[in-house]
Amino acid sequence: MSRKDKSKKNDKMPWYGDGLRFECTQCGACCSGEPGHVWVDDTEIEAMALEMGLEVAAFERKFVRDVGEAKSLIEYPDGDCIMLDPRTRKCTVYASRPIQCRTWPFWDSNLKKKKHWKETCEVCPGAGTGRLYSLEEIEAARQEKSV
Ligand code: SF4
Ligand code: SF4
Repeated sequence: MSRKDKSKKNDKMPWYGDGLRFECTQCGACCSGEPGHVWVDDTEIEAMALEMGLEVAAFERKFVRDVGEAKSLIEYPDGDCIMLDPRTRKCTVYASRPIQCRTWPFWDSNLKKKKHWKETCEVCPGAGTGRLYSLEEIEAARQEKSV
């Protein structure tokens, strides 16, 4: 490959081409705070119900709300996700947590520019530290669900 070809390829490389570090400390900060949505689909609801040993309908009645055509997990009045244990501050369905949670912090909105990633690192103590995720891993997470 010529030098020219190579530089062309690098031009297309996203700014995080060398990968990004992330290791969740399970501090719970991204599961609380300002009111928001944790979007869930039927497959995700089923998986969480299974992990909790509940019937899907019972799980939905207790933990899910309709938002237009979509569904979101309910929040406590203080903004905590209903799946966040108020005492331990850990997710009670961690193994089956929704894609939106599993793909954090590698969301489009956090990766647009370096400054967006910096802002993410300020709110998430696990972002920017720990394991190095490759470009391929980041892109796979980013494309799994756009938020
Ligand atoms: S804010 Fe970051 S470190 Fe804390 S629970 Fe969320 S992903 Fe993990
Ligand atoms: S489902 Fe679990 S990981 Fe996702 S926001 Fe709720 S508590 Fe956090």
